[in-house]
Amino acid sequence: MKVGYIYSNGLLKFNFHAEENSGKAKMARKTCKFYLPADWTLKSVHPDLLALATILIVYPFCGSKITLPFGVSQLFHNTFRQITKKIVYPINNDLKPRISPKLSKPALAYSGGVDSTAALTLLPQNTQLFFLDRIIPHDMPQNSRYNKQSAHFACHSLRKLGKSVHLIKSDFEYVRNPVGFPIDVACAIPGLLLADYLRLDSMAFGTVMESAYRVGHLEYKDYSETHHYNTWGKLFQIVDMPFNQVVAGISEVGTSKIVLNSPYKALAQSCIRGNLNNPCLNCNKCFRKQLLNSTLSGKTLNDKFLSRLFLIPEAGKYISKLPIKHENVLTYITAHYQGNFHIMKLLKKKTRGDLLNVSWMEKWHSPSLLLLPEKYRDYVKNRILESLEVMTPQDEKNVKSWNLIKSSASPKYKKYNEQFITALNNHKKNKPRKNPGK
Ligand SMILES: [Zn+2]
Repeated sequence: MKVGYIYSNGLLKFNFHAEENSGKAKMARKTCKFYLPADWTLKSVHPDLLALATILIVYPFCGSKITLPFGVSQLFHNTFRQITKKIVYPINNDLKPRISPKLSKPALAYSGGVDSTAALTLLPQNTQLFFLDRIIPHDMPQNSRYNKQSAHFACHSLRKLGKSVHLIKSDFEYVRNPVGFPIDVACAIPGLLLADYLRLDSMAFGTVMESAYRVGHLEYKDYSETHHYNTWGKLFQIVDMPFNQVVAGISEVGTSKIVLNSPYKALAQSCIRGNLNNPCLNCNKCFRKQLLNSTLSGKTLNDKFLSRLFLIPEAGKYISKLPIKHENVLTYITAHYQGNFHIMKLLKKKTRGDLLNVSWMEKWHSPSLLLLPEKYRDYVKNRILESLEVMTPQDEKNVKSWNLIKSSASPKYKKYNEQFITALNNHKKNKPRKNPGK
């Protein structure tokens, strides 16, 4: 794939020209743009940073070779080739790899959701926040279910609280079909493009334990041994923007706990469809977060509330699966449920809330400290300990033995799941919703 750039007055345009058919992923558009500060120029970014930002857009479609209009360092070329078996050309033999400037600051890919807000509370005051402000290409219908109102409000409120928040407009998510990040760490692109301009030295994300250590999937895996860490983590290291995975050792239960106890409690909203302080209550995230926040606040989940939540169509589909993505969070919620609502009791059985010890989800898996650049470890550790306890050896055993493969294949849990689905279907039949959406 050949890549070209056009830059003027803060507008950076990428053009892509595919030279070979590159498999399954679908490239929907051959161009995208970023709105950067007006005094930023192509010269104010190290070529390896621009190359990495580009790779995060085109990786699924680039085929075996990417050709840029400028040279990358030998080290970047070699590392990329070694890790991905793909090639980025040309090489500039005179170019030294990037080293972050003196007096540099950490960056955070901030979404407005709970997990990146938790990351924000754990990072130093001078952290630079990057909100990727998704815009729709001009030649496409200007409607989307994605609602930025609450995220924008959070960004502006954080600015008033003295935080440095950069809202960077881009339509790069439309390069992919379906629309979205071609690579999950693509939310770091604004931070990479501005890393030299703003003197940045690391990249933090709201990546929680469910994703990093895979406990939201089938079984625990040491993050440092995952493909993700050994591909993207290494490439970020080469441009001296190492991952700063401040919440990787914290489950979604823990990040919610941190945010509920933080000054940003009212700013964090994970639902991307609802309005400010008014989550849609009609999506999957709303289902999980409403239950989790109520559980963490010690509220009793009353039948009316549960009845309403179990009627959310998207949530119904999601929790009817076996296993469920981020099932551990539902195990945590149902383990704390003592009521008698029939479907909730069946969900408890299905997700083993009646059997498993869930206390590890409220605590910190401290080996994750090694996923942070050394200079931030002490600070972040102290911040985490203000909100969470460290996992006990028993908790560590529980987290490492987290496994959904066996349970989801067993006839007993298949039967529980069928009972659950039947009850959920009956609930939908008996209680049609009067006001869909609200
Ligand atoms: Zn929602």
